[in-house]
Amino acid sequence: MSFFNSISRSMTRSSQRGPKRSPTPTSASASMDGMPPPSPAAVSVPSTPVTPSIPKALYLSRPFVEAALVKGNFKTIVMLPKYVDIMEWVAVNIFDFYTNLNEFYGVITECCTQQACPTMSAGPVLNYTWINQERKSVHLPAPTYIDYVMTWIQNLLQDESAFPTKSNHEFPQSFPSTVKHMYRQLLRVFAHIYHAHFHQILHLRSEPHFNSLFAHFLSFGREYELLEIKDMKGSPSAPVGVGQLWEKWKEMGILEG
Ligand SMILES: [Zn+2]
Repeated sequence: MSFFNSISRSMTRSSQRGPKRSPTPTSASASMDGMPPPSPAAVSVPSTPVTPSIPKALYLSRPFVEAALVKGNFKTIVMLPKYVDIMEWVAVNIFDFYTNLNEFYGVITECCTQQACPTMSAGPVLNYTWINQERKSVHLPAPTYIDYVMTWIQNLLQDESAFPTKSNHEFPQSFPSTVKHMYRQLLRVFAHIYHAHFHQILHLRSEPHFNSLFAHFLSFGREYELLEIKDMKGSPSAPVGVGQLWEKWKEMGILEG
């Protein structure tokens, strides 16, 4: 079942009850009061114009690339369980991905400093930029960027109007676009950790756990159309490091297309 089709069906039903409403692609920003909004228009900018020659990263090398807590394909654990509402399922999974990723980042945070990570790097020539309140694309140190993302997501998760937890509260019309926006930013945090901090993950011997968390995140994102291929792979001149990991895991049968 498609998450977005399911939402659009329920939107059609709700629009029959009231006046027709226009799509609200920017509505996620309404919940970001006091925070510099992470923009869906944020672009990946290569730090240099040269064509990259990419040395093979450790996370793409054996045995680390195949280290996992979960053996086999992730398809079965992302499928919607019987009798569970699809929006509830997406909401609870987003909460888990955020919580687990936040714990991993908490462990390596003392290594992710303004000096060590002056930009939000995610590939040899890729540094994500942030759209600030003046709508300007700016480079931020990775810890600042990640702090903005995680604080913004935590606030949304605690906002009853964005992520309803009470049985009489309905999911808002903006829920799909909000979730997709969150997913895109969480992907960037994963991408930075793999690119800049994988040796610390190895030092902690946490690579099976971290790989399984990321593979689960990717599989779920593809199943519910929350992840765009272009965000996974980046541009040819500025590829996302973990885009190659995604390709490898597809070859290995851990993930589907
Ligand atoms: Zn860092």
